[in-house]
Amino acid sequence: MEQSDIKQRALQLLQSFYGYRSFRPGQWEVISAVAAGRDVLVIMPTGGGKSMCYQMPALLLEGCAVVISPLIALMEDQVQALIANGIPAAAIHSGRSEMDNRHAAEAAIRGKIKILYVSPERLLSDIDVWVNRVPICLFAIDEAHCISQWGHDFRPVYTQLAGIRERFADVPVMALTATADRDTRSDILTQLGLHDPMVWLGSFNRPNLSLMVEQGADARRRLGTIERLISRYPNDTGIVYTLSRVGAEKICAELLRRGHRVALYHAGMPNAERVRARQAFSNGDVQVVCATIAFGMGIDKSNIRWIVHNNLPGSIENFYQEIGRAGRDGLPAETILFYSLQDLIMRRKFVEESGRVLVATEKLERMKQYAEAGVCRRRVLLSYFGEEMINDCGNCDVCLNPPTRFDATILAQKAISAVLRTDSKIGQLMLIDILRGSARAELRNKGYDRIKTYGAGRDIPADAWRYYIQQMVQLGILDVSIADGGLLSVTPYGMRVVRGEEKVLLPEYRPTAHRAREKVPELPGVVEPDMALFEYLKGIRRAIAAEENIPAYMIFGDATLLDMSRKRPKTIDQFLEVSGVGKVKARRYGYRFIGAIKSFNG
Ligand code: ADP
Ligand code: ZN
Repeated sequence: MEQSDIKQRALQLLQSFYGYRSFRPGQWEVISAVAAGRDVLVIMPTGGGKSMCYQMPALLLEGCAVVISPLIALMEDQVQALIANGIPAAAIHSGRSEMDNRHAAEAAIRGKIKILYVSPERLLSDIDVWVNRVPICLFAIDEAHCISQWGHDFRPVYTQLAGIRERFADVPVMALTATADRDTRSDILTQLGLHDPMVWLGSFNRPNLSLMVEQGADARRRLGTIERLISRYPNDTGIVYTLSRVGAEKICAELLRRGHRVALYHAGMPNAERVRARQAFSNGDVQVVCATIAFGMGIDKSNIRWIVHNNLPGSIENFYQEIGRAGRDGLPAETILFYSLQDLIMRRKFVEESGRVLVATEKLERMKQYAEAGVCRRRVLLSYFGEEMINDCGNCDVCLNPPTRFDATILAQKAISAVLRTDSKIGQLMLIDILRGSARAELRNKGYDRIKTYGAGRDIPADAWRYYIQQMVQLGILDVSIADGGLLSVTPYGMRVVRGEEKVLLPEYRPTAHRAREKVPELPGVVEPDMALFEYLKGIRRAIAAEENIPAYMIFGDATLLDMSRKRPKTIDQFLEVSGVGKVKARRYGYRFIGAIKSFNG
């Protein structure tokens, strides 16, 4: 077949199985390379559309695509979604019964499966049992960064996958990852031994994600921010990531107490409870999940509208992957990072204990630069991934609310002199208490209420002080000792400030830094969707999901419902015009939604 014929055919398949009109950037380039028999490395951000890169070749070519994935939950979601679109798919892993696994393998051998997900352990142990008898058109290694020790998610079993390139000489191998740092990338290529691979490095820009950082907020203010998000998206979901289990439990309990639908998720929970939390989240039964980092890999839910990081992540990769779970449908979504000095201290401790101090320090340093950025945050993010951005993004807190600086010399002098007068024996918390004139016993026992600047900063709220002290550390006026649990000391620069030899400019503290959203530019959409109809259609979807006992997003994603409320289809042919509606789902759900749209009109 000619190249252009193949593309025609691929577009037909895309339309009839998935209901999509065109490929996302990179998808066709990758698919056609596979069709030409080449190995490929696909680097795309979360939500970029990696799955299509291996699914479409399977539809286009003879045989089956074997997809190696470390995430059982993700495999199950994908299989369910494929079957819902009429594509024969199956999964083989330890989470299924041996009988199910055997049936799947047999079906694959008989050529009845187009896309077969396998855990790396099973693939390796079963190569001579059944894998070698399956007609295979492609091996796709998902989460390929797991092969690299430089990555953030090293899995030793992945290194054994190196053998499949040699063993299956005629089958193209595709590696996919959302990790873009150069070391990991070249590690993937060399370890897998890909032959003259085509490398697609997609843009990591996700313009629909707003990027916000809130510095200095205490627990109460943080909860307020989270509650605002909950009420802004009453029909959608969000995730609060915390560093510790205890942190997740606290926020969860507080949100529950305030009457929100929340679930908890962390690695220490029994498996059954975790499954229940995941399901409740997928079905939309809960609006928020408070989770440690263990949650989310493999959550293929396209309408997560917001992500909050309660603690500073250890690397930009981790951060980016986690915020990337929001807004996968391309609609606006919000991300907020709470940043505090304590977190930085804690993270630095982790780094020292990590055994990989150099790599971990560098990664944390870059994350810190993001959190402290005084320039467009998206530029900081993308530069990390080696991408240039010519313009400011207009959708981060720095762009929307450029910090205004004020002469903070006197304010800084008060803080510095308090640190000096305690002989550098205090941390941030005590410093704020001294400045604000707290009557706390420990403070008085130590005689800190007799310090000259005791109470001298009473007019400034504690949140603001936290923010200013953090800024002073960032500027190198104060120093924080990690070894001593965060004791503050005064740098030579700070000494010059307190002697009045240097002026200090600090960005003004503005607690509601993210009123931003109203200013977010509308994403390109031709016709305004009818939001009331959109909500109504979500209700229909929820009803069907309950009847069929499947997660709502398996029926249609939000982007599809939104397009539906824009196009208001009245016939099945018009229904097929809606983005995300393939033939199988049109047949299955078309009349139900068309009926709903008609009755909504009348
Ligand atoms: P990734 O694996 O890179 O995180 P996915 O493969 O899950 O991303 O795709 C993200 C979303 O984009 C999914 O909801 C998917 O259905 C959708 N998608 C993928 N390709 C296209 C396309 N060509 N047109 C429209 N939507 C697409
Ligand atoms: Zn910006």
